[in-house]
Amino acid sequence: MKRCLVGLAVVWAAVWATGAMAQEPKVGLSIVNTGCAQAVEALLVPGGSVLNKRAANFSAFLIKHGSRYMLFDTGLGRGIDAQYRQDMPVWARLAFGYEKPLHPAADQLTQAGIGALERVVLSHSHWDHASGVADFPGVRIAVAKEEMQRIQQASEGVGTAWPSQVGDAATVWEPLVFADKPYMGYARSLDLYGDGAVVLVPMPGHTPGSVGLFVTVDSGRRYFLIGDVAWTRDALAQGAAKFWLAGKLVDGDASGTQQSLEQVQRLMQRDPELQVVPAHDSAVQDALGYFPRWVP
Ligand SMILES: [Zn+2]
Repeated sequence: MKRCLVGLAVVWAAVWATGAMAQEPKVGLSIVNTGCAQAVEALLVPGGSVLNKRAANFSAFLIKHGSRYMLFDTGLGRGIDAQYRQDMPVWARLAFGYEKPLHPAADQLTQAGIGALERVVLSHSHWDHASGVADFPGVRIAVAKEEMQRIQQASEGVGTAWPSQVGDAATVWEPLVFADKPYMGYARSLDLYGDGAVVLVPMPGHTPGSVGLFVTVDSGRRYFLIGDVAWTRDALAQGAAKFWLAGKLVDGDASGTQQSLEQVQRLMQRDPELQVVPAHDSAVQDALGYFPRWVP
């Protein structure tokens, strides 16, 4: 079984030794792995074994644009233990957990000397994406309008967002406003910097306000961060969002999720160079490398 977060310290040492951090990209993407879990393979991949396990990552994604930095998702934050105790339903604890040690994104960024973030965008408000919101006080937390309704309902015990994560009155929320401007086959989009390098698109289904992010890095490669539309690229290839039981547990709207997934599939067929990165796919993320490395 593959262990979680293999050799994070080794990666750091190698990066310092080669001075890789000094080669700062103009537009860059770096995967900040905050932790992982050993999940039953059948949950992650249709047709997977119930006997095998696979590492599922809890990643945040750092995006650099010029001198500005932002995060797409936060992974597991400093407060996850207390959040989990308070808000993870007891019946769900067998299926959804995490391993120690954890490496919250805020700690990793601080260690690397990356200070203020311009904003944090959440692909959606589930616990394993929003856990680190409280670690970035004063930073705008951007979500789709549809997701904002979920977040406002959290304190009433409605929906799936956790009050311990999104209920702080001091959090500065920013509703994302999409324009009727097509991008990569999506009818609506939001070009964050106005130059086409970092573009958000709506991907409803898993939650009503799920969003994906395209980032085109210096090498010209285009990455597509798809949140939880599918948990693995293998699942995408097979055209099945999730093992049926997992889908029942986590996908708010199964047909919406399936439509969003098929749209990604069509895109991958049209553009084989596109690098699709599901939020939890450790195999895809291992191959790209982790913070402080920038993806190629
Ligand atoms: Zn989710």
